[in-house]
Amino acid sequence: MSKRNLNHIQKAAVESFGRPVLIFAGAGSGKTRVLTHKIAHLIENNLVPAEHILAVTFTNKAAQEMRERVNGLLKEKHAQVNMGTFHSICARILRKEIHHLGYTPDFSIFDVKDQIALVKVVIEAMDIPKNYVTPQEVRHKISYFKNKLIHPDEVKRKAHLVIEKTYAAIYKNYQKALKENNAVDFDDLLLLPLEIFETHPEVLEKYRQFWGYILVDEYQDTNKPQFMLVKYLAQEHQQICVVGDDDQSIYGWRGADIRNILNFEKNFGNCEVFKLEKNYRSTGHILEAAATVVKNNENRAPKDLIPHNGAGEKLGLIETNDEMEEADAVINALEKEIKLQKRNFSDFAILYRTNSQSRALEDSFRRSGIPYNIVGGVRFYERKEIKDLIGYLSLIVNPKDTISLRRVINFPPRGIGIKTVDKCVIQAEADKKEMIDVLNAPESMGIRGKQADSLTAFYNIIKKYNELLPKLNAGELVRTLIEETGIKKFYKESSGPEDAERFDNVMEFLKSVDDFMVREPEGGLSQFLEEVSLLTDLDQWNDETNRVTLMTLHAAKGLEFPVVFITGLEDGLFPMYSALETKDKLEEERRLFYVGLTRAMHKVYLMYANHRRRIGSDDLYGMVSRFVHEVPEEKLEKISFTSALTRKVVGGKPGRHTKTAVSRTVVAFDDFQVGDFVEHAIFGIGKVMALSGQGENQRVGIVFKDGLKKKLVVKFANLKKVDTPEG
Ligand code: ATP
Ligand code: MG
Repeated sequence: MSKRNLNHIQKAAVESFGRPVLIFAGAGSGKTRVLTHKIAHLIENNLVPAEHILAVTFTNKAAQEMRERVNGLLKEKHAQVNMGTFHSICARILRKEIHHLGYTPDFSIFDVKDQIALVKVVIEAMDIPKNYVTPQEVRHKISYFKNKLIHPDEVKRKAHLVIEKTYAAIYKNYQKALKENNAVDFDDLLLLPLEIFETHPEVLEKYRQFWGYILVDEYQDTNKPQFMLVKYLAQEHQQICVVGDDDQSIYGWRGADIRNILNFEKNFGNCEVFKLEKNYRSTGHILEAAATVVKNNENRAPKDLIPHNGAGEKLGLIETNDEMEEADAVINALEKEIKLQKRNFSDFAILYRTNSQSRALEDSFRRSGIPYNIVGGVRFYERKEIKDLIGYLSLIVNPKDTISLRRVINFPPRGIGIKTVDKCVIQAEADKKEMIDVLNAPESMGIRGKQADSLTAFYNIIKKYNELLPKLNAGELVRTLIEETGIKKFYKESSGPEDAERFDNVMEFLKSVDDFMVREPEGGLSQFLEEVSLLTDLDQWNDETNRVTLMTLHAAKGLEFPVVFITGLEDGLFPMYSALETKDKLEEERRLFYVGLTRAMHKVYLMYANHRRRIGSDDLYGMVSRFVHEVPEEKLEKISFTSALTRKVVGGKPGRHTKTAVSRTVVAFDDFQVGDFVEHAIFGIGKVMALSGQGENQRVGIVFKDGLKKKLVVKFANLKKVDTPEG
C-alpha cells in the first residue's frame, strides 16, 4: 500500500499500533481516509488478520464504500473485514446468540411503524383512558429510555407523577410483548447484545478474542449503548482506533453523547491522540465561513483547520419570495453551474433541515426534467405495498409475529374484519396458544361461513410457506407467494389511481429479492428480511447514476460534493424554533449548519425565502437565519434572482389563509411540431418526437443528442426552437 497520499500526521496515525488511538479533527481533514488506510496497513503488515478487524461506520453505505477503498489499497485479495453500522453488527451477533435470552434466531426486527403498532396493542390491553397518551409519544419515550440504558424497573422506581408511572408500566408490557412476538426493536438490537455480554461472560470473551482490532468512524455521534459495546469489546485488549469531530455531533436528540469522544482519553488511558489540521476538501472562503460560524459555540474543543486548496469562490446568498421560488432559484443556479463550470448532476447536493421541504424542490426538479435522487421521504421499503409483502414474509419466517399477522390477515381483502381478528386474539389468550394456531379452528370461536373459510385459507398459506422455507430459495418463494395470495392479481386488476405504481413497486421488490440472491446465493429469506430492515435512507442512494442529490442535512454527514445548496435558512426553520429554547440545542443546530457548509468542495449557495407555507405548522415570514448573519459579510456574494413566474399575494394582509396567484411574466411560447429541433439549457439540442396539449400546457417528448429521452412541460422547460440539429 502506498502512503504517498497521506501527510505526515495522517501517516503517523495510520502506523500507530499497540496503544488506543484517537483522531480528533475537523471536517474534511482526512479522518475517514486515515481509517481506511489503517485497515489496509494492519492487514498488509500482518499486525491483525483481516477477519479479526471490526470497522464501524455510520451508514451501511459508508461501510460498503470503505470496503471498496480498502480492497483498492490492498495488493492481494484478503479475507473480508467485518464492516457495518452498530445496528447491523449487533443484528449479526444476535442471530447467533439471542437464544441465550430465550428468543429464537429467526426473530423479527420491528421498525418505528411496527413499534407504534405494538405500543397501540399494549395500550389497548391495559385499560388506559383513551387519549391519555398517544402510541407515538410512548414509543418516543421508550426509545429515549433505551438510548440512556434505563430499564423499565428503574423508570418505575423513579416515577412520581401518574403519567410517569403509566409510561413505566407500558414500557414493561411492551418489552414483554416484543418477546412474545419473538421480535426486537431497533434499540434492542444494541441493548440485547449488551445484556448477553453482561450475563454470559464466555460469549463476551469469544467476541473480544475474535475482534482483535476495532475502528469506529464518526465516534462523536455514539450513544450510551454504543459506547458500552465499544468498551466491552475493546477495554481489555485496548486495540482500538476511533475518529471524530466534536463540531459535527448532530444526533444529541437521538441520545448521542458528545462526552464519549471528549472523555475517550479517560476511558482508554495511555491513548495516542492525533490532530489533523489540514482540510483537503473545501476551498478557503467556505472553510473560513464554517470555522467562524462554529466558533460561536461555547461547548467545543478549539481546533484549527488550514485550507489546502485555494481561496475559491465566495458563498452565494440568494433571497426569494417563497419556497416555490426558492426551488426555481436552485434550478436556475444549478443550470448556470452546469453551463459555465461544466458540472455533472451528481456534483450537486441540495440540503434541507426537514424532510417535508423536499416536496417543493422535487416539483421543480420534475418540471425541469433534471434527474434527482431523494434520500429519505417515503422510502421504498416503507411504502404500503412493500410493507404488506414484508409482513407476509416476516410472518412466514416467524409465525409468532402478531403485528405482521394483523397487517396482512385481510390483505388482499378476504372478508376478515376487525371483530373476527379480536375474537382470534381472545381465543389465543384463553387457549394459551399462538394467534396463528387458533386461525385453524374457526368453529371453536363461533366463526362460520365465508369468514371461517378465509381464516383457514390464510392459515394454510402461512403454514405451507413456513414449511417450504428450507426447500425454496427466497426468489421462488416470493414469486409463488404473490401469485397464491392474490397480491399480484389485486394490483394488476385494480383501477385505483396509485395501484399501477404499487404494482410496479411489487415487481421492483421481486427484483430486490433476486438481487439479494445474486449477492448472497446461500442467503435465506430471514437474512433477506434482516437486510431490508437494516437499510437506512442512504442505502437506496445509488450514486452511480448521474443525478442531483436531495437530502436532509443530517443525512449528509461524512459525504462531500463539489456544490452544496443549503435551503430554508430562516429563523424558526433552521435553527428550528424548538432549538431556540436552550443553548445546547441551538449549538447542535449550529453544528448541523457547520456540517452542511463543510460538505462543499468548491461552492456553497445559501438560500432563504421571505414567506414559506407549511403543512401542519404556522407559515414562516422570513427572518433570515441567525446563522447567515454569523457568516462574515466579506465571504458572501448576494445573487439576485427573479423568477420567470412571479407570485402575487392576493387579498388582504398576508396570513395563514392568504392565497397566492401565479402570473406569468414570460408571455410567448413557441408552438412546437413533431420533428422540430430544439435547444435546452442543460440537455442541449434535441428533436421533438411527441406532443400533447397546447400553448403553455403543451408537453413535448424529446430525444436529445446523447439518446436521453425527456418529457417536458413547455411552460417550464425554456426550450428554444433551432433550425438544424447542429443548432
Ligand atoms: P468528515 O469530517 O466530513 O467526515 P473526514 O475528516 O473524514 O471528513 P475525508 O472524507 O477522509 O475527511 O477526506 C476529505 C477529502 O480530502 C477526501 O476527498 C479525501 O480524499 C481528501 N484527502 C484526505 N487526505 C488527503 C491527503 N493527504 N491528500 C490529498 N487529499 C486528501
Ligand atoms: Mg469522515
